[in-house]
Amino acid sequence: MSPVQIPPTPPNGLNGHVQPLTAPVSSINSLSFSTRALHIGSEPSLSASNGVVPELSLSTTYQQSKVGQHRGYEYSRSDNPTRRALERQLASLEGNADRLLEENLVAEGLNEGWEAGSAAVAFASGSAATATVISGLASRGGHIVSVGDVYGGTSRYMLKVAQELQGTTTSFVDLSYQLDQARQVLKGETEEQKREQDERDDEELSERLEGAIREDTKVIWVETPTNPMLSLVPIALIARVAKKHGIPLVVDNTFSNPYYQNPLTLGASVVVHSATKYLGGHSDVLGGVIVTPIPSLLSRFRFLQNANGNVPSPFDCWLLIRSLKTLTIRSREHGLNALRVARWLQEVGVPAGLVRDVRYPGLKRAIESKGERRERELAWEQLSAEAKKWIVKQGFSAESEGGFPSGGMVSFHILSEEEGSQTNSAAAERFLEGLELFALAESLGGVESLAELPLKMTHGGVAPERRAQLGINGELIRLSVGIEDGDDLVADVERSLRAAIEL
Ligand code: PLP
Repeated sequence: MSPVQIPPTPPNGLNGHVQPLTAPVSSINSLSFSTRALHIGSEPSLSASNGVVPELSLSTTYQQSKVGQHRGYEYSRSDNPTRRALERQLASLEGNADRLLEENLVAEGLNEGWEAGSAAVAFASGSAATATVISGLASRGGHIVSVGDVYGGTSRYMLKVAQELQGTTTSFVDLSYQLDQARQVLKGETEEQKREQDERDDEELSERLEGAIREDTKVIWVETPTNPMLSLVPIALIARVAKKHGIPLVVDNTFSNPYYQNPLTLGASVVVHSATKYLGGHSDVLGGVIVTPIPSLLSRFRFLQNANGNVPSPFDCWLLIRSLKTLTIRSREHGLNALRVARWLQEVGVPAGLVRDVRYPGLKRAIESKGERRERELAWEQLSAEAKKWIVKQGFSAESEGGFPSGGMVSFHILSEEEGSQTNSAAAERFLEGLELFALAESLGGVESLAELPLKMTHGGVAPERRAQLGINGELIRLSVGIEDGDDLVADVERSLRAAIEL
């Protein structure tokens, strides 16, 4: 018998294509992340056969007993039992968003007759989720403030679709602490000096954001960690500025994942994911999700999901449900392995003259610049409570020598003959093509390790000036560290690096 007793979804006799909140949220939210991942959405009581796995419901239409009377489903684009199960599971994992939604509904007096369902809305891809948020919030000439180092497909949508077709404009702003002066190494700072400096940096960052906000700004869009430089932006700080101006803060949480980071609990209004990455986790399903506990936004996204019809197939939903059940254990292994690779690069690769500028949010270097210290502290602050509990149990702290696990992505610059080369990627290509375990491929977040050259692959379509500004050159390599044996991964990186450099 399931340890979690959740009553079945009551049939919705209203418009049918949307569902009421489907479970007594208060009884669920006390369970931990990994338990929720397994049970929410997969309650046997919700399945006609009491199966412990949700049914794969392929029917596109549902019989009505009388005109307008049905058991909650009319047509599969509008709502589908497998997708509904996935959405409940996703809402539970991303910051316990159904609980936050329920609180907001009660506060706004909307809980009776609420029709827009769970706080998560599933899409056919991350790009479809992104398009829905941008067109839903900032069309008809609205303005977006976006973090500069944003995913190339997102900036493409902002500039080539929203701007050209909907008159939406975007300002790209650096919202990280990695500013020029933040790179200097400060010695012998007292705690008080550190705190004062941090406050000044926070103020400076807020002013930069305030300076970009206009009367017509409809969305603030951030990613953290960013792609491919893995810079961090302070979600809580940005959320405070966003709130002051009444603008929704949207966080694309794809490069982290809900196990490591819950932007909603840090004050964000909306979270977006490419579920193709860590949520799917096996490089075999495309998907996207929007999560928001704000009723008015949720209704709008739910409406657009049905109106635009860019929904995931029931089978893709079913695969995602299955994948999410192992998100906790996959994320932990990704984090431990990525930390090992980052540490090897920093502790062996840098002194050996093989690489420079190793980027991993939780990495602690023996000598840190101010920006690096700030980012490491932020990586710790922005960890979800669940991840932090596990990381501490493993014996790590914010100040651990070498750092702490903080996700599965690592990037670095290989040292080529021509240091800092904008275009010469010969050494990087030798390294990438010499790897045996890391597959040379775009994408990330799967159980198998991947490596790529952003200059010519994921970021090939970004304007050269912008790439140069962001440090994306012929030497930059991005790794998605999988869950193979950590020793094997380090050995693969070492062998291929030495072969690429020491010709
Ligand atoms: N957001 C980020 C950060 C991504 O990396 C990607 C894809 O790489 C997307 C959104 C788009 O997701 P999809 O490829 O599932 O459309």
